[in-house]
Amino acid sequence: MPPKVELIPIRVPMTEPFRISSGSVDTKESILVRIEDDGLIAWGEASPMSGAFYSIDTPESTLAFLREEAIPRWESAGHPGPAFVSEQLQDSEGNRFAWAGFEGALWDFRLQREGRSFSDEFGGETKPIESGLAVGIYPTIEKLVERCHHYLMEGYKRLKIKIEPGWDVEPLKAIRSEFPTLPLMVDANAAYRREHFSLLEALDEFDLMMIEQPLAAEDLKGHADLQSRIGTPICLDESAESPARVRKAIELGSCRIVNIKIQRVGGLSAAKAIHDLCAQEGIANWMGTMPELGIASLHALYMATLPNCLYPTDVESSARWFQEDIVEPPIEVKGGMIQLPPEHTKRPMVDEERVERWRMA
Ligand SMILES: [Mg+2]
Repeated sequence: MPPKVELIPIRVPMTEPFRISSGSVDTKESILVRIEDDGLIAWGEASPMSGAFYSIDTPESTLAFLREEAIPRWESAGHPGPAFVSEQLQDSEGNRFAWAGFEGALWDFRLQREGRSFSDEFGGETKPIESGLAVGIYPTIEKLVERCHHYLMEGYKRLKIKIEPGWDVEPLKAIRSEFPTLPLMVDANAAYRREHFSLLEALDEFDLMMIEQPLAAEDLKGHADLQSRIGTPICLDESAESPARVRKAIELGSCRIVNIKIQRVGGLSAAKAIHDLCAQEGIANWMGTMPELGIASLHALYMATLPNCLYPTDVESSARWFQEDIVEPPIEVKGGMIQLPPEHTKRPMVDEERVERWRMA
């Protein structure tokens, strides 16, 4: 019997809307990839945001690509292992979320069969992982400060706020006066242009850990110019779409930090390659999230134990964003730290009842 691959689109309500400079969304959709073979069941998660504001990949385009392209190609290649995805990434552009979800399932299958864990392949020393709080853009500064107080009670190790032109200096002044010593960073999601350089220079006074993706994803040269003018380290996120792009950014001096997102780069193998490259070049990393549900979040947590992941991860408690996660137990932040539950130390444990509950008709 050939392996059975099932694509399961699911939709989970979010506890609050996820809002960035380009748009917002209030449900989380993922395409789960379930492979069954030889009595083993393996899972992956392709996790683009709904709508097209976050990336050009949507749940619909990702599902269609998996169904019509990725899986037929894999079947005609004779059901190879996860290296198949690395080869495809070199020969084709786009559909990174789809490939990340498929590769996750292929790795899960391979590792189960070999009796190894994700940490054996992609992780470092098993240890508690620092988690940082990320808050979106709010209608008022009062609401932003109130939300920060609310969530920081849970002990997160740093705060990240989203900024955009017109929502930057004033909210930062308010946050800094409320939390003078809190490790603080900002994420602009590419909302600024070169005419904003003097404004971005003014952010140095807030003693930020980093400013994440101030300029457009393709503007590596602009980031290099800006980095030479500001003391705050620039962290690339949207620009860091492949090992080759990251190499180019490092050569140009566009950043001092790189946020690694497994979904954006097309899977764990590409993410690990970026980590290893940055480690070699003295560029720090941390593991970002979009955010994803539990399978993909756990993949990020395995990698967050790698030695060059030097800043807190964006992975938060499952309950922070989702009414219910599909892994059991859910991810939990305690005192600002995530300790992987023993159930998930080898691989993500998926609750199939919950998958059924949130499966889209
Ligand atoms: Mg970001």
